[in-house]
Amino acid sequence: MAQLNEALAAQQNVTDDQREQLNTLYDHLEQLLRDSSPESHPAETVAELRLLEFQLQSNWNFPRDPDFHVYWDKLNGCRCPSTDNSERFGQPKIHAEHCPYHGAHTWAGNTRPDSP
Ligand SMILES: [Zn+2]
Repeated sequence: MAQLNEALAAQQNVTDDQREQLNTLYDHLEQLLRDSSPESHPAETVAELRLLEFQLQSNWNFPRDPDFHVYWDKLNGCRCPSTDNSERFGQPKIHAEHCPYHGAHTWAGNTRPDSP
């Protein structure tokens, strides 16, 4: 299990309950990313990961904002430009048209990320 960023936890006034939630969420996240495959229900995987990122933001006491999601392009086989996207942290994501998860043929590629 990954250790929480203690400086950030203190800064964000993360409670003990939230810490527990975060540990569970990060375990779930690790497993989801590890098991992800473009051949196995990519749309469901994207939706599940998206929900996890919103739950992480809530428990970190950050606004639920998809523009600040950081794991969405870490799925196995995602072809979105991760360098461009990490430079655009806090701005709408760039999706690769041919990405099996986020490409033009999938629901996620067609719309700007909606609210939770
Ligand atoms: Zn992608």
